[in-house]
Amino acid sequence: MSTTDEETPFDAYRERVDRPLARLFQTYGRDRMGWFAIGMVANFLARAGALLPPLLLGIAIDSIFVGEQAFSIPLVPDAWLPTETVAQFWFVIAVVAGAFLATAVFTWIYGVTANLFAHGVMHTVRVDCFQKMQALDMAFFDDKQTGEVMAVLNNDTQNLERFLDDALMNSMRLLVMTGGIAAILFYLNRQLAFVTLVAVPAMGLFTLWFMRAAEPRYVSQRSAVGNLNTRLENSIAGIDLTKATASERFEIGRVRDASKRLFDDTMAVLKLSYFYRPGMELLAGLSFVSTFLVGGLWLTTGTAPGPLTGDLSVGDFVVFLFMTQRIVDPLAEVSNIVDQYENAKASSERVFGLMDISAGITDPDDPVDIDPVEGHIRFDDVSFSYSSELTDGDDELVLDDFSFEAEPGEMVALVGPTGAGKSTALKLAMRLYDVDGGGVRVDGTDVRDVRVSDLRSAIGYVGQDTFLFDGTIADNIRYGSFDERDDAVREAAHAAQAHEFITELPDGYETRVGERGVKLSGGQRQRIAIARVVLADPPILILDEATSAVDTETELAIQESIEELAADRTTLAIAHRLSTITEADEILVVEDGEIVERGDHDHLLARDGRYAALWSVQAGVVDFERRAEVLPED
Ligand code: ADP
Repeated sequence: MSTTDEETPFDAYRERVDRPLARLFQTYGRDRMGWFAIGMVANFLARAGALLPPLLLGIAIDSIFVGEQAFSIPLVPDAWLPTETVAQFWFVIAVVAGAFLATAVFTWIYGVTANLFAHGVMHTVRVDCFQKMQALDMAFFDDKQTGEVMAVLNNDTQNLERFLDDALMNSMRLLVMTGGIAAILFYLNRQLAFVTLVAVPAMGLFTLWFMRAAEPRYVSQRSAVGNLNTRLENSIAGIDLTKATASERFEIGRVRDASKRLFDDTMAVLKLSYFYRPGMELLAGLSFVSTFLVGGLWLTTGTAPGPLTGDLSVGDFVVFLFMTQRIVDPLAEVSNIVDQYENAKASSERVFGLMDISAGITDPDDPVDIDPVEGHIRFDDVSFSYSSELTDGDDELVLDDFSFEAEPGEMVALVGPTGAGKSTALKLAMRLYDVDGGGVRVDGTDVRDVRVSDLRSAIGYVGQDTFLFDGTIADNIRYGSFDERDDAVREAAHAAQAHEFITELPDGYETRVGERGVKLSGGQRQRIAIARVVLADPPILILDEATSAVDTETELAIQESIEELAADRTTLAIAHRLSTITEADEILVVEDGEIVERGDHDHLLARDGRYAALWSVQAGVVDFERRAEVLPED
């Protein structure tokens, strides 16, 4: 997760998102509105219930303990109330106990429903984002935005959950408590209510001041967190280099600096919040003291102090004092609510920014059915550059006027210097990217006219480096052909000359590999990849020969299994060791995105051009002068 100030192409989509929170509710909240509504009502009732006990205490003081007034409860008809003092007392006790019970029950209901709502939304958003990510073009991943996507899946969904749960609950509480308390106080004694509530606007202003002052500090703190994370990720990824160059101290120093910056920024935030909470308490205390003072004078002298008029009962006075204590907590949450709201807004912008990225490589509306694929491949005047909507600018052609044809069962090999465009050509055959000009055809149909999954399942790919998912060896061989049986997996491993080394592993086919399992060598991983393709049995094979050297014996084994694999399939192969492709039906020498020579091995040798030069170098017949003359600088 890197937090940089520079705009990523991802931002462009994000900025186009309109009213993100409304969209969040519409897209993900709709199906769960029931839970949301129940939660909100329960929350309202729980908070309202919490206001009842002090109110009833005031009434009990006035009509039962002091006995000055008739027993009466607002909004309740007097006919329903008991008339005897003892019965009235029991009635009050019962209602107060009931109010506590109701508050508890409604708080519980609220907790369950609000969490079902918030976590439900979070779960759906997470899965949807991942699904969307799987559909995105390779170009998106080329831009190395995987860190951003991880941040969306982890942090942003969490921010949304917090907002939907805590922030909404706290705003409801704020509304009920301030609204309810103000209503009760004004109902009981309008004049004293002014005295008590005069602190509320002051608390509001104080909160506003706090938020303004804290905002830049929060921003700085968040950037320090991002900075530290990037630093840590980078340092851990580069541990090999750090150790090899004995630069541990340097690395520790860098991490220490990043950590110190976070410490300083966090302290800056905390210093301010140390201030805020006591400030709010102080304002509430002020409200308590002034209410106590004015109300106390009123009661002791028996007349309204100063400009005030009318009567004050002891019960009302007690209710007032109680209520001043209840108003701080909800108000103190305002800054958190605003913070969570802002975070959630930014997070849903990021979520929908991801959702709105359009994938270019999609199924056509009316796909041509190419099953069963025979394996005829044709590139017609293909031109291609990596520029896309996401990587604006650079449109240098990586492939230009690129044409060739492979009949079913034939092998076409691509050779040439690094960066010539060989891998790119193979990626176009799999439609990992779309051509800019010309077309790639399989069995006579443009790859853009067939279903993407139909095309790709007709192609088997063995690349330079084989990724193994966390799981068993058998799972990895079965990847893509998930329904195959164990004996088919074993047969495939046999054909790939992998069976022997697999059975020597601690748990054989059930040995765990990948991130958290046994580490396999490059040659072993490659044989797993070959087994995977044998199992899938596709009519077309794409090979990107590994450049990294494996020992000669392994190389021979791999070569043998690849030859067997390629025997009856159309094969496009990138070769670095020319000895592996002498039997190819056609060899294309690629330079700078163009095919500069083509023909079979004997033909190309006879031509005595680029291929012949490459061959003589690899065969050990090195004629340096001639090599320098014929080969481009690489
Ligand atoms: P080869 O396989 O012959 O070594 P490639 O097809 O990998 O060559 O690369 C051809 C050119 O395209 C190179 O200049 C390379 O830098 C560029 N290139 C390769 N992959 C990408 C990518 N994902 N995004 C942008 N440029 C790329």
